Amino acid sequence: MLKLFNSSKHKTDNAIASAVKSLNQYGFDTTEQENFINFLQIQDSRFLYHANPRLIANKLQLSERKTLKLLVTALKEGLVTLNWDIQCPKCRGIDFAATQLGNLKTWHVCPVCQHKHESDADQQVRVTFSIDERLRPLSKEANDPIFRDQIDALYGAVSGHRLLTLQMFRELFPRETIPPNESLLIRQVTILFTDLAGSTALYSQKGDSHAYSLVRQHFDFLFELVDLHNGAVIKTIGDAIMATFTSPDDGLKAAIAMQAKMQDFNRRFESPEQYLILKVGVHSGPCISVNLNDRSDYFGTTVNTAARVQGLSEGNDIVFTSTLITQVKAIKAIKHYICEESSEVLKGLSEPVTVFRLRATK
Ligand SMILES: [Zn+2]
Repeated sequence: MLKLFNSSKHKTDNAIASAVKSLNQYGFDTTEQENFINFLQIQDSRFLYHANPRLIANKLQLSERKTLKLLVTALKEGLVTLNWDIQCPKCRGIDFAATQLGNLKTWHVCPVCQHKHESDADQQVRVTFSIDERLRPLSKEANDPIFRDQIDALYGAVSGHRLLTLQMFRELFPRETIPPNESLLIRQVTILFTDLAGSTALYSQKGDSHAYSLVRQHFDFLFELVDLHNGAVIKTIGDAIMATFTSPDDGLKAAIAMQAKMQDFNRRFESPEQYLILKVGVHSGPCISVNLNDRSDYFGTTVNTAARVQGLSEGNDIVFTSTLITQVKAIKAIKHYICEESSEVLKGLSEPVTVFRLRATK
């Protein structure tokens, strides 16, 4: 009997090891792969059923961002399943309703207390991962709500919004969206818009193909910096990008990194007339995530305001609103930056908006 158990355990272990090796193509190093193999092979089954990604991050000693990337690639390769779990704001019960974003609706009815509430991507919708049971069957003990509550209390849940803001998730699952005519409420999103100043002149000066190649290169590092700061590029519009972040801090830091990188990039040109000039605007607030042309996109006043704020940028600066006021103090403490405050009237908004313009002094 023991021998039989060992041989099936051996088979499972081998299957897990060879499945994890398929993650090679996504750039995970040998140690990260070995640790993940170990985790999936020997971990208590409660860690593999609707598991909080922060618990996995802790066990694998990886950052949350790196862990989410690992789990999303594991999802793509069929090692794990993704759950969009919904927590009822009234009875706190968790409904394992959705394995796909396509199963989520604007309104959700709690199966326990019948409370009807909005599917709020920041607070009610959370993401967890389970091992694919074709790889390792789990015992009944895996489903332990008390254990999961303890873990959530210890680490905090990872929101659906966080996963929607993972660049790799958008790249690997571009068509993973909520159903048409439904929307997900996002209570707090930080939206960043960029644009290139004088791009018409850029194309006429350098010729279309050279100008386009420069624009592509600037897109490449903007995408990289957005990802590095825990954000996702939602779309590009001409020479502009729209990116979102779950925290205002990340959005503003990404903007600062973009302008710094732009300066580096421009060193290749002989004269300042040839420089690419980046305009950036950042604003935070609530919005809704919707399905537009089979891609998830963001809509609402916050998005429109962020675009208008970007319109105030003159280039080589970052304009942001007082929704990021708590970041202002920290920025003022950074050397080599000046931050000016002004009141601006934005098209479509009745009240003037307080904005801050941040510039590097050297
Ligand atoms: Zn309930």
